[in-house]
Amino acid sequence: MFLRILAAALVVLVLLPDGVRAQATTIHDGPLSERRVSYTMEVSLDPDRRAVSGRQRLTWRNPDSVPVDELQFHLYLNAFKPGSTFQEESGGVHRGFSSQDDDRWGGITVQRMRIASDLPADLAGSLAYPGPEVDITDRIRFIQPDDDNADDETVIAVSLPRAVEPGETIALDIDFESIMPRIIARTGFDEDSDGRPFFFVGQWFPKIGVYEVPGQRYVPADASRGAWNTHQFHSNSEFYADYGTYDVTLRVPESFVVGASGVRVEESSDGSSQVLRYRADDVHDFAWTAYEGYLVFEDQWEHVAIRLLLRPEHADQVARHFDAAKFGLDRFTAWVGEYPYTTLTLVDGLGGSNGMEYPTLITCGTYYRMPGWLRAPEMVTVHEFGHQYFYGLLGSNEFEEAWLDEGMNSYVESRVMDDAYGPGAMMSLPGLPIGDRDMQRLSYTKDDPSRGALFTWSWKYRFGDYGKASYAKPATIMNALEGYLGWERMRTFLRTYYERWRFRHPTTRDLQDVAEDVAGEDLDWFFDQYVYGTAVLDYAIDSIGNTEVADPSGADSVDWYRSRIRVERVYDGTFPVTIRARFADGSTEDVRWDGVSRWEEFTFTKPVRLEEAYIDPDDILWVETDRLNNRRTLAPSDAFAGRERRKFTTRFQQILYVIQALF
Ligand SMILES: [Zn+2]
Repeated sequence: MFLRILAAALVVLVLLPDGVRAQATTIHDGPLSERRVSYTMEVSLDPDRRAVSGRQRLTWRNPDSVPVDELQFHLYLNAFKPGSTFQEESGGVHRGFSSQDDDRWGGITVQRMRIASDLPADLAGSLAYPGPEVDITDRIRFIQPDDDNADDETVIAVSLPRAVEPGETIALDIDFESIMPRIIARTGFDEDSDGRPFFFVGQWFPKIGVYEVPGQRYVPADASRGAWNTHQFHSNSEFYADYGTYDVTLRVPESFVVGASGVRVEESSDGSSQVLRYRADDVHDFAWTAYEGYLVFEDQWEHVAIRLLLRPEHADQVARHFDAAKFGLDRFTAWVGEYPYTTLTLVDGLGGSNGMEYPTLITCGTYYRMPGWLRAPEMVTVHEFGHQYFYGLLGSNEFEEAWLDEGMNSYVESRVMDDAYGPGAMMSLPGLPIGDRDMQRLSYTKDDPSRGALFTWSWKYRFGDYGKASYAKPATIMNALEGYLGWERMRTFLRTYYERWRFRHPTTRDLQDVAEDVAGEDLDWFFDQYVYGTAVLDYAIDSIGNTEVADPSGADSVDWYRSRIRVERVYDGTFPVTIRARFADGSTEDVRWDGVSRWEEFTFTKPVRLEEAYIDPDDILWVETDRLNNRRTLAPSDAFAGRERRKFTTRFQQILYVIQALF
């Protein structure tokens, strides 16, 4: 024991000369993003009051070509006050987690906001407010850009006494106090079974909105000025913020184990409190957690230091978490692009804090004695890691186009899981391997698959459609697009999308442009039906048959047949498809069908009978809702096998429904 303490002390001496660890936040020297914002925060955690309070120095550079005289901020924690739009929409229940405790409420108060006059030297050239600092606290007003709920306090607007000129930077000093709610929507406090306090601190500080300039996202390029894109906190919506730098100093009681976004660059202690300083660059958020109970494990993947904060009851699942994280790093790097950050923190939090992404920090989630054949913790780890790309590095607007994050991420997650763990990637029960793509497809098809277009603002879905339309459906249609383009071109699409749009907030239209560039063809037929529309695809074999005909050569030495396959389009969706005909001598012939007409008949004249027809024989049309009607055979033995197969498939789907309900 003593030796271990000594060794640990030596490590600290080596790694922390003067209490500073020399680790860069990314593997690049210069900025990776535009860095319109910077946050320097010094805050303290008071566990008894569940309060995080302190000061923020925020800088914001006006990216527009005209002066901007109003700033808008998110105060997300106010979603957890009575009467908020989040409470109205959710009834206080978020993804199955809720609390009725009296102490469940949280909120954030901006105590004072001042325009600073002491910008650092490197920003001095664009100092917007030279001279004495100006108190603008009484200029703060709550606004509700999405609804008329006057009780919603999740967005504020602040009019400025003088506009920020184009290219100028304004610095604000903001004193604030955040009261953490009992965990809801992946943030807050809780107690473990021993009564020890647990904190997951997300969406916790005043965060400036994204000011979109002309030509950015959906602001017309010829607009006279840009606009703030701020939305209230909704039950079904995540986040949108600008890239910048974070320098965050946390004062936390000594007994807590702390994990945070970015790199820990300084640490000190006065015996009762520890002071931890973190830096994160080219990110758009910062989250942290504090809990006495965490076990800490460390691992390395190439340039990434992986740190796992695990609850003690899950100590036997260390390798499962690290393996999944490394599979994620490996496949996402190869298929999408570089992970430029030097750290990744995996957090096994309490209850409703799990299954969430923040820059370089993700919450995973598992259960005591999670069986090895059920790869839920692996899937969540891969999924939340994947968000480092679609949420983190690309920075989609999750309020308006959630599918660009959740859906694209669920697609790649399903590919990573199936590639890393094989056919039973989600469940590997003997004789019943279930892959991640199977699960995604099932959640898309199991209820009315026509409900919910992907391109819908997240709080405008009919209740319950958000999950399907933002996760399972986009994953499934992307798997179908992969079937259409082929895996090589699909990877080129993912890589090009990442390279062209990282740190730049792409839209659905931008994604389609990349897909069309890579495909070398117009893909309106795909996007109009499955992204903007609610088309449902199902093809069926209506009938097959043979008629004896005369030998076309006139020789009449063998019997000739005119064979037909009649196929039907069942719903409104179309998708180019292959139909395979198999003849009695074992030979096959493929025909292509665009699926546009309601039904179509394909005929063959051959000296051999048609025995079987199969729509989509390579099983690449993942988006098709019913695959049991894709095959028809005239051979009795095969027909029997087909019936058995169908019975098995039906049972299999029923089992899947049950399992699906668990997630
Ligand atoms: Zn997600």
